[in-house]
Amino acid sequence: MSMLRSHRGAAAPATSSAQQRLVEALRQQGVSNERVLAALGKVPRHQFVDDALKNRAYENNALPIGHAQTISQPLVVAMMTQALLTGRRPQRVLEVGTGSGYQTAVLAELVTTVFTVERIKPLSEAARRRLAGLNYRNIHFGYADGINGWPPYAPYDGIIVTAGAAAVPEALIQQLSPSGRLIIPVGPQGAQSLRVIDRRGAGIREQDMGAVSFVPLLAGKV
Ligand code: SAH
Repeated sequence: MSMLRSHRGAAAPATSSAQQRLVEALRQQGVSNERVLAALGKVPRHQFVDDALKNRAYENNALPIGHAQTISQPLVVAMMTQALLTGRRPQRVLEVGTGSGYQTAVLAELVTTVFTVERIKPLSEAARRRLAGLNYRNIHFGYADGINGWPPYAPYDGIIVTAGAAAVPEALIQQLSPSGRLIIPVGPQGAQSLRVIDRRGAGIREQDMGAVSFVPLLAGKV
C-alpha cells in the first residue's frame, strides 16, 4: 500500500494530477465525449498562460492572456468542442479567435486539419510559436479578421468562433460545407448565448446551448 502510494506520488507531477482533477470536474459538469475529455487531459494548459498564472492553469476559469483577451474556460472549450463533434467527424475545422491557441490545440487533437485566424498580430505569432513548440503539425495560422471567415481554405466541416458576435456573420454560414456546423456565441455583452447552427442544404437549423460570456468579436486587424 505505502509503496504504491509513494510510487504514484513520484510518478505524477503536480500539474498532471491537477489536470486529471479538472477532467473529472468537466465530466461531472456534463462533458461526456471521451475523446474530448482525453484531449483536455492531454493539452498542457499551463503552457498557454504567463508564468505568473501557471499555478492556476488547471482551475476551471478563463484567465488573462494580454491585449485585453482571455484563454477560454476549460468547460466552455470542452462544451464547444463536444457540440462540434456530436454526431459527426469533421475533418477541416476553422477557429475564429486563436488567442492563446489552447482551443486550437484541443481541436488539433481531434480533427484532421485546423485553420485558425486571429486579428491581434502578437497573439497570432505567439500561438504559432507555442503550438510549433508542442509539435502540432496539422494547424494553419492566419492573421486575419475572421468575421469574413477565411476564404482561401473554405469550405469547412466545422467552424468555432471563440469571441461573441452581435449577429451571426453571413460569411461564416457561406463557408460551411453542405452539412457543416457552426458554433458561435451571439448577443450583446452580458447577454450572449451559445448557438449551434447546422447547414442543411439551402437552409439552416439553429439550436441554443445557453448563456455564455465571451470577449467581443471585433472587426479589422490590429
Ligand atoms: N480560443 C482562445 C480564445 C481567445 S479570446 C483561447 O482559448 O485562448 C478570443 C480571441 O478572439 C481574442 O484573441 C481576440 O483577439 C480574437 N478575435 C476577436 N475578434 C476577432 C476577429 N474578427 N477575427 C479574428 N479573431 C478575433
